[in-house]
Amino acid sequence: MPAEKIQKIRSERDIGRDELKFLLETDDVDALRSLRENAREVADEVYGRRVYIRGLIEFTNYCKNDCYYCGIRRDNRNAQRYRLGEDEILSCCAHGYELGFRTFVLQGGEDPYFTDDKICSIVSKIKKNHPDCAVTLSIGEKPRESYQAYFDAGADRFLLRHETADQSHYGKLHPAEMSLENRMRCLWDLKEIGYQVGCGFMVGSPYQTIDTIYEDLQFIRKLGPHMVGIGPFIPHKDTPFGKEKLGTMDMTLRLLSIIRLLVPNVLLPATTALGTIHPQGREKGIMAGANVVMPNLSPLSVREKYLLYDNKISTGMEAAECRDDLEKRMRSIGYEVVTARGDCAGFAV
Ligand code: SAM
Repeated sequence: MPAEKIQKIRSERDIGRDELKFLLETDDVDALRSLRENAREVADEVYGRRVYIRGLIEFTNYCKNDCYYCGIRRDNRNAQRYRLGEDEILSCCAHGYELGFRTFVLQGGEDPYFTDDKICSIVSKIKKNHPDCAVTLSIGEKPRESYQAYFDAGADRFLLRHETADQSHYGKLHPAEMSLENRMRCLWDLKEIGYQVGCGFMVGSPYQTIDTIYEDLQFIRKLGPHMVGIGPFIPHKDTPFGKEKLGTMDMTLRLLSIIRLLVPNVLLPATTALGTIHPQGREKGIMAGANVVMPNLSPLSVREKYLLYDNKISTGMEAAECRDDLEKRMRSIGYEVVTARGDCAGFAV
């Protein structure tokens, strides 16, 4: 693909199906270098050579859903379940604050124990203790009123990967009681309420095709999210997809670059899953156009239980204690870890 084609994708912020197919399948090293360099240039133009950090608190692995890919799905009897109490969550934040984190991401399964009142209480206490910090929730599909209540309690951002924008693909990843329609409804509600919203998908999930990815990208363009979370699919042995193929780092990096060109201002994490499949996965993610990393702030005793997939890393660079190491690694590729809330560029706070 000539470099002008990549320039055109960059300037039009759009990609054709054939261009996508080419970029995901080619071995043309010049085309791939040009893709990566254009994506990095765009990220540098918007955010400079900065990497934002978010402290991830995986506060419950109970889940009422039964997604076929996920290690904490309801029907996985081998999962050792846990939930953190409000005080434990608040002390994770206090510890994270000391380490320099200014965004806390509370992620969990869809756990009915955490009622709206409990979530609102946790959010408002974090905001009261740390008024200069942003709170991101990633707790799944809820009625609009619940999202509104969390927002009113002070939540700033919400991550809800759409998982796939293709109806039939969605049906192959989830049981019949879940629907793409409801997932999309949630994302639009969150946006209307005023959250900074993140969608996303797994790269290399079973039954994914170039066409479903094309739909994902078009959906991302339409939603105009503030964040996009993509990472490789990694099988978990105790799920129906335990024997499926692993998503690749290469494909994830290509897609990170493409997404950076389509939505230049977006906050794009180099995810834990990317760090799990390759020791330099996250550095490579940054070099491909990502600008966020989310080290783990959960107490060490529970980290090994939030097992979405096999071999999930939980003691290396993803651990918040290793901030120095993270800084060193990012500096080695020319990037600086910053202690700032790191809102989406152009989003008035
Ligand atoms: N329950 C919330 C939700 O549905 O958004 C948040 C927790 S959920 C476990 C977070 C994300 O983990 C999902 O959106 C999914 O994309 C990712 N995930 C789950 N299983 C995975 C796997 N086997 N490989 C890679 N990512 C996975």
